[in-house]
Amino acid sequence: MINTNKNTIKVESHSEKVSCNGEEGDLGHPKIYLVIDSKRGSVTCPYCGKLYKKKSN
Ligand SMILES: [Zn+2]
Repeated sequence: MINTNKNTIKVESHSEKVSCNGEEGDLGHPKIYLVIDSKRGSVTCPYCGKLYKKKSN
């Protein structure tokens, strides 16, 4: 199978927030904290567009 969304990052299901700094060279940005939307179970970084998504059960 091919994972077409390499910008999706799985986070532990008990997590409520994540930190993001872009990580990869050109996409780097100041470190920020993102609160995971409890209804959607995910949050998108406004700087680099990475999608942080809780692992499904
Ligand atoms: Zn980011």
